[in-house]
Amino acid sequence: MISEDARRRGPPPRSLDVFLRTSHGRTEAAALAALFPLFKSPTSIKPSTALDDGEQACEIYDAYLGYYPQSNVRFEELMLLKRSLAKGDIVELGLCRVCNGLIIYNRIDPTRRTCSHCEYLREHEPDSVTLSEKTTDLD
Ligand SMILES: [Zn+2]
Repeated sequence: MISEDARRRGPPPRSLDVFLRTSHGRTEAAALAALFPLFKSPTSIKPSTALDDGEQACEIYDAYLGYYPQSNVRFEELMLLKRSLAKGDIVELGLCRVCNGLIIYNRIDPTRRTCSHCEYLREHEPDSVTLSEKTTDLD
């Protein structure tokens, strides 16, 4: 459960910027998206309702914060991500162009396609990433 103190206030977010602006966001979104199928009810034959979807999103959010409590992702952003991935309109799951790790990226502007781990290495150990990128480019 989310404590009242930890619950963020303010207007609900309307964009997926938190997931698309930085490599950290792209990696976090992929970690969240990887949880989505684990919380589907495989035995239910009824179509899911908005209430089912909300309840499922709560379970995903709780599980994610249990795994990564320092996350800045808000519940409403998780809902936006879930809807956008289902529609396939703005974001898409893909692979980091350096290490093939799972990330999300903007379908319209797919230029930022590196994960947070490779971005960190690029900043702190530029030689190691350059080598990896050269290897990947030859594939
Ligand atoms: Zn990577």
